[in-house]
Amino acid sequence: MNAPAPSLNLLDRPASSWRAALDDFGYEPYRGDQVAEWVFQRGVFDFERMTNLPADMRTGLASQAAVAPPEVAQRFVSSDRSRRYLLRTGGGELVEAVYMPTGERATLCISSQVGCRFACTFCQTGTMKLQRSLSAGEIVGQVLSLLSDAELPPKRTNVVFMGQGEPLDNLPGVIGAVEALQDPAGPGWSWRRITVSTVGLVPALAELGRLGERRPRIAVSLNASTDAVRSELMPINRKYPIADLVAALRDIPWRRRERVTFEYVLLRGVNDSPDDAKRLGKLLRGLPAKVNLIPWNPIETMPFARPDQDAIDRFRREALGSGLDVLVRYSRGADIGAACGQLQAAHDPSVSPTTVSAD
Ligand code: SF4
Repeated sequence: MNAPAPSLNLLDRPASSWRAALDDFGYEPYRGDQVAEWVFQRGVFDFERMTNLPADMRTGLASQAAVAPPEVAQRFVSSDRSRRYLLRTGGGELVEAVYMPTGERATLCISSQVGCRFACTFCQTGTMKLQRSLSAGEIVGQVLSLLSDAELPPKRTNVVFMGQGEPLDNLPGVIGAVEALQDPAGPGWSWRRITVSTVGLVPALAELGRLGERRPRIAVSLNASTDAVRSELMPINRKYPIADLVAALRDIPWRRRERVTFEYVLLRGVNDSPDDAKRLGKLLRGLPAKVNLIPWNPIETMPFARPDQDAIDRFRREALGSGLDVLVRYSRGADIGAACGQLQAAHDPSVSPTTVSAD
């Protein structure tokens, strides 16, 4: 009979608590620091390969705990070098994550839930039901899986919570992961390198605001300038309309020079008129904000079209003219369905000729 799998995934706790965890198991506390160094500095997750641990400790520890990032089930490589991953959790579900390199840096787009319950009409994940929220360890594990699969380790990594799921619908898992990523005994990243993107769950936003110095950056998926259109695109708007969302954002104690990012996917004939741009300027007036305009990345099964270039330019000009700081952003990895916020819901190996199996 196989030995039962260890129940403790060390990744569910910040690395600075691994000293205490190993102490509980009967090892000297400094061994916790050694394990953390293997995991976060060298990308080694198997105790057996941690050669500065005594042999009997390696065997013993493997029966008590694990460092268990999700496995790479499949990767899709884009012509722009972005990689979309299907990662298999310990529970066997698949979640998506995207690795986007830019020079010596990389941005990782990671998931916070398996599926999602918010049913935004422009999002394929929205067609799935929520299966469950991911634990902090399963979220941090996505970062480790992607970094250890990178061709060249990036010099700097940013993480955005824009994959499957609504991060603020999983506050314990997401806050646990944010704290673990910031932990000096682990990756030790600053709040600047972590962005949580939300559809605008107002009470949870307030809770995020109370995190103080630990609070990550915030991005809001806005996508409309009126409640009528936003409620059509994003049903959660019926519960938390735009005015409530903006009021909650005004209450957050923003740091000096920090700005909240608004994501605005431009959909032809839906939210791309010059009047929309003007209304947007009015709505966000006084907030430390920047707006990312994302021309829609067509998906066959969805009833939306991308505005033509003139409409995109006109919208941008109007928004700039109404005082907004605006950038047009084109999605990375469009050929592999990797656009953040538009991740494919289904495991679809036909999605790209550049599909590479991890097996
Ligand atoms: S956009 Fe985000 S919140 Fe909306 S359905 Fe997709 S994953 Fe869920």
